[in-house]
Amino acid sequence: MKKIAVFPGSFDPITRGHESIIRRALPVFDEIIVALGDNPEKKSYFPLANRSKWLELVFGDEPKVRIVKYSGLTVDFCMRMNAGYILRGLRTSADFEFERTIGLMNKAISPAIETVFFLSAPEYAALSSSVVRDILRNGGDVSKFVPQKISGEIHRTVSS
Ligand code: ADP
Repeated sequence: MKKIAVFPGSFDPITRGHESIIRRALPVFDEIIVALGDNPEKKSYFPLANRSKWLELVFGDEPKVRIVKYSGLTVDFCMRMNAGYILRGLRTSADFEFERTIGLMNKAISPAIETVFFLSAPEYAALSSSVVRDILRNGGDVSKFVPQKISGEIHRTVSS
């Protein structure tokens, strides 16, 4: 059976931290579905269309990565995609506590789906989409923190 993992998130915007987790997990899975959450209750900084386009640009040349928008429960989405794994990244003990709760609840709902954690690369352990958004709101340069391919577009989008 194909080993399919879902990497869920809001990617508002995608950072080098997300990219690193996905690329490092590629040898472990046959396919990684980057699941872009469309959650109307969570107000995003960038529109869904931009977040989706940037993910496509970053992973367009990677045949094992697929970008899919979703809403609703992550485990239901995994079932629809035939995915047996949820991939998550861990930066800090706070991430761990947060992820543990979600992971245990997901396990209670869908015991067949396993959550797999990758530790953040040390150079990205302090990086988050929210820090990137704060820098952008204040006119700063995020080119070190977001994938190189999309850095120019992100800055142009903010200044337009
Ligand atoms: P959410 O909206 O669920 O917080 P994010 O888009 O912020 O989604 O993150 C999705 C996943 O990526 C989460 O598992 C998160 O822990 C992980 N992640 C985010 N930033 C980093 C980073 N710098 N290093 C490693 N993992 C990260």
